[in-house]
Amino acid sequence: MKALVYHGPGSKAWEDVPDPHIKAPTDAVVKVDTTTICGTDLHILKGDVPSVAEGRILGHEGVGTIVEVGASVQNHKVGDRVIIACISSCRVCVYCRSGNPSHCLADEGTSGLGWILGHLIDGTQAELVRIPFADSSLYALPEGVPDEAAILLSDILPTGFEMGVQYGAVKPGDTVAVVGAGPVGLAVMATAGLYGAAQVIAIDLDENRIEKARSVGATHGVSAGAADWKDQVLALTDGYGVDVAVEAVGIPATFRMCTDMVRPGGHVANVGVHGHPVELPLQDLWIANLTITTGLVNTTTLAMLLKLVKQEKLPVEAFVTHRFGFDQVLDAYATFGDAAATKALKVAIG
Ligand code: NAD
Ligand code: ZN
Repeated sequence: MKALVYHGPGSKAWEDVPDPHIKAPTDAVVKVDTTTICGTDLHILKGDVPSVAEGRILGHEGVGTIVEVGASVQNHKVGDRVIIACISSCRVCVYCRSGNPSHCLADEGTSGLGWILGHLIDGTQAELVRIPFADSSLYALPEGVPDEAAILLSDILPTGFEMGVQYGAVKPGDTVAVVGAGPVGLAVMATAGLYGAAQVIAIDLDENRIEKARSVGATHGVSAGAADWKDQVLALTDGYGVDVAVEAVGIPATFRMCTDMVRPGGHVANVGVHGHPVELPLQDLWIANLTITTGLVNTTTLAMLLKLVKQEKLPVEAFVTHRFGFDQVLDAYATFGDAAATKALKVAIG
């Protein structure tokens, strides 16, 4: 088959690789119908994620059709169309049972850092992908849910909801500011309303992304490049600061923006993947009684979010802006990587 292979920082190629096969009775092999690119793939290609080995097939989001199942798979059969969770997990080990399946301990040499597709095991930017623990890591795709909506459930909708809204402890009436209106930031904005946020402020350098944000639930937009960005945010909160600030970029400057604009007693939920250390001025954070959270998505809310997508209760249609064939995957990366010029958000591939 063909797959997109990582060859170290800055280097990737769409090339021939051996087809994946069932290795354990709990595996399935899925023909990828639609995959996409995430900001995390760009971090990997920049060299920000050194745990990704050279030779790894990239990609952790996908919708596909099962072509082979292991002997003990019960929930799925050949021919089923499924959503692939970005992290496979056994759902029985101590970390899975304590709500952190992204740290699944079931062993295949991944030493307790889970089964992250396109990172610690081969991923979905390929014609075929092997999925460990298929029963708990694949989700039946309901009739009527298009691939362009389903693909958001592999990673970004659960990430935005779990790591932004739930870790940020959004409550009814809250003002939530989201720095970074890329797909992940937009997923936070699209799901903040589930817990009753009263105001959702989208903050980005790119005006086009702020405009997009308004179509998925942001009530206000602030340009991160404006000298008075913080005054604009404070003006929306009677001068107190936001209840929840969500970092969805992954650089020290935007983390700092979050701690700067949150009210005393508020929450900063870091979602971005950081390639460099962030300064933590505890002398200021301590006295502000802040709660700071961060984490890797667990995908434990995928099934719940899928129900809402099926009922058209989440604004998912704004996300996928471009579609490419597998043989155009390098063009897809170029388009996704230059969003300011191309206005790309999520690019569907397949
Ligand atoms: P993206 O690159 O598409 O979007 C980032 C956005 O940030 C862009 O709109 C960009 O214009 C904006 N931005 C850049 N610099 C800025 C600045 N100084 N101020 C304000 N805005 C700025 O990325 P994405 O796919 O939306 O992912 C966002 C982050 O979430 C990435 O770091 C990604 O790795 C991370 N992520 C984390 C998890 C997790 O499990 N925690 C899962 C998936 C993605
Ligand atoms: Zn587990």
